[in-house]
Amino acid sequence: MTATLDLKALHDRWVMPTYAPSLALVSGKGTRVVDADGKSYLDFGSGIAVNNLGHCHPAVVDAIRRQTEKLLHVSNLFVNENQPRLARRIASIGLGGKVFFCNSGAEANEALIKLARLHGAPSGRFEIITMRNSFHGRTLATMTATGQTKYQKGFEPLVPGFVYADFNDFDSVRAAATLRTAAVLVEAVQGEGGILPASFTFMQALRQWTAENGILLLIDEVQAGIGRTGAWFAWQHYGIRPDGFSMAKALGGGLPIGAAAVTPELSDTFSPGKHASTFGGNPVATAAALAVLDTIEKDRLLDRATTAGIAIMDALHALASCHACIETVRGIGLMIGLVLNIPAAPVAAALRDAGLLVIPTGERVLRLVPPLTVTDAEIAEAIAILDRVLP
Ligand SMILES: *Cc1c(COP(=O)(O)O)cnc(C)c1O
Repeated sequence: MTATLDLKALHDRWVMPTYAPSLALVSGKGTRVVDADGKSYLDFGSGIAVNNLGHCHPAVVDAIRRQTEKLLHVSNLFVNENQPRLARRIASIGLGGKVFFCNSGAEANEALIKLARLHGAPSGRFEIITMRNSFHGRTLATMTATGQTKYQKGFEPLVPGFVYADFNDFDSVRAAATLRTAAVLVEAVQGEGGILPASFTFMQALRQWTAENGILLLIDEVQAGIGRTGAWFAWQHYGIRPDGFSMAKALGGGLPIGAAAVTPELSDTFSPGKHASTFGGNPVATAAALAVLDTIEKDRLLDRATTAGIAIMDALHALASCHACIETVRGIGLMIGLVLNIPAAPVAAALRDAGLLVIPTGERVLRLVPPLTVTDAEIAEAIAILDRVLP
């Protein structure tokens, strides 16, 4: 048996089958990752848009190592030295208000949902409008917020108070509103829905209408955030300021951390006892996140995401002329969807066997989310593998 098959057998025997993993990966550096049998892959999946600095970035590893020698955990009954610094940093690149820390994207959205309900309670507002084809997480509330029945089947009854509208269709959002509407929760770029950017006019209309009607505009930046689209947060492409937004995936450079950030006006909506997380803002995870944000700034990786994204999308457009399976290319920065007219999963498997990791999203979309540190040579290599493997 190969080492990969050994590990896979162990996994299948003891880990609940919520995923169906193929490879067993044991080490990584930058854009490359190595499996248990020593085979190397170009990683354009980045652990589902988590490794925005690639695998084991030295600045992140160093920050984690230094913190682990000092203090691992104290709970939020005490202040740790990294959490408030990270909150100030997120405020400075985001909305200027306070931050709540947790451990995942679902929890970050859950915090926004609870905050919206608490904020709306005095005026009887509790409904949250979310979009069809969205993805917000797997807890009961965020799974209900997720506008795709395939994630909800069998888990009924769902959480009350969620109403769905069509993404990029402002009239359908307005039609879903009632006097009980507390908030609209939306992704600026739908990730699991197939890498679908919101239109400029949709986001502008949403912002104006929610502001005029006392409805909070909340943006899920869990996948698009932390520089992936060429801005710190994807909402920054739309000339708007939301009332709050969530982040997670790439924030910790590979360590689990989530956060919900709001405007100064909403900063004290939660009072002590209203919400909590034992591990939220943990000293090690926040040390890693500070190193991630510093590195993105110092190495000008927002600009790199933009230029690398354009290079990849141009190359994919060129591939489309000789591969009939390519329907279209869409995305912003390094959040790219290669839309096929055939099922994406078997193509992703063939690419994996050829040494390139990409993640299908939706039925027919290959998601390309390489690290922001991806080099031109690695882009050329990935495009060559695509050219060889795509029918
Ligand atoms: C991944 C994701 C989530 C859920 O994050 P978890 O950390 O898996 O809970 C929520 N929203 C979006 C847009 C995501 O991509």
